[in-house]
Amino acid sequence: MGNPLRADLRPQTSKLALLWPVACALWPAGCTKDLDLIQDPPRAVARTTTGPWASMVYLARTDSGLVAIDLGWTGAESVIEESARDLGGTPADVRWVFLTHAHRDHIAGWPLVRQARFVLGAAEVPGFVGDTGYLGWATRMSDGLNEYPHPSRDSIAMVAVGGDTAIVLGRDTVYAFPIPGHTAGSMAYLFRGILFGGDAFNWRPGSGFQGARPEFSDSIAQSRESLRRLWERLPAARVRVMCTSHGKCAVADSALRARLLR
Ligand SMILES: [Zn+2]
Repeated sequence: MGNPLRADLRPQTSKLALLWPVACALWPAGCTKDLDLIQDPPRAVARTTTGPWASMVYLARTDSGLVAIDLGWTGAESVIEESARDLGGTPADVRWVFLTHAHRDHIAGWPLVRQARFVLGAAEVPGFVGDTGYLGWATRMSDGLNEYPHPSRDSIAMVAVGGDTAIVLGRDTVYAFPIPGHTAGSMAYLFRGILFGGDAFNWRPGSGFQGARPEFSDSIAQSRESLRRLWERLPAARVRVMCTSHGKCAVADSALRARLLR
């Protein structure tokens, strides 16, 4: 027998999903979820760009200068400037950028921090420089709307990561894990106990956390397999919080790990 409470909630959750973009556009915190779990000023701040779409930009101060994880979409410049100011710096102080993937809604701020080293999955370089496109139908539709700026291969310094990698930044270390599937070069980064998983998982009202969305992904089957393999080699105790690249965060536990494989 099904859960009656769940059956009663079904019509309401579908209405909520429809109203969600409107509701969160009016909500001062935007369409984020538990972003306060990773706010740590003046050491680190997270903000989102693009209104309800909520593409996250995370900036942290390390012994090796400012680092950014993902670079947002529309409005990324002012968000990066504001976040750098919160950390006592400017965009020119950003030394490292870590890209979970190079879909257009996560890279828009790159010209502002072009002096940085850009860490990304080796298989993501062609997408970042605009040599190849992506496979998800909604991603292709969005990319087809208009052109957007890509760096050329020789205009910025790229660190293309092909396997599990640790990058030491003074007292901090960024652990980089390839998790192909959402895109060929998708990466997860573990930094100060926070796992930045890109779009390999997402959160929606009504359905909660789940794996990558098919309409935006190259292969959701590969993405789930990548997460399953990541859980095998990443001890649970090392991850305090997990966040999507759209500003949805949660305390990491085994139930959450299991949900993301669905
Ligand atoms: Zn994406």
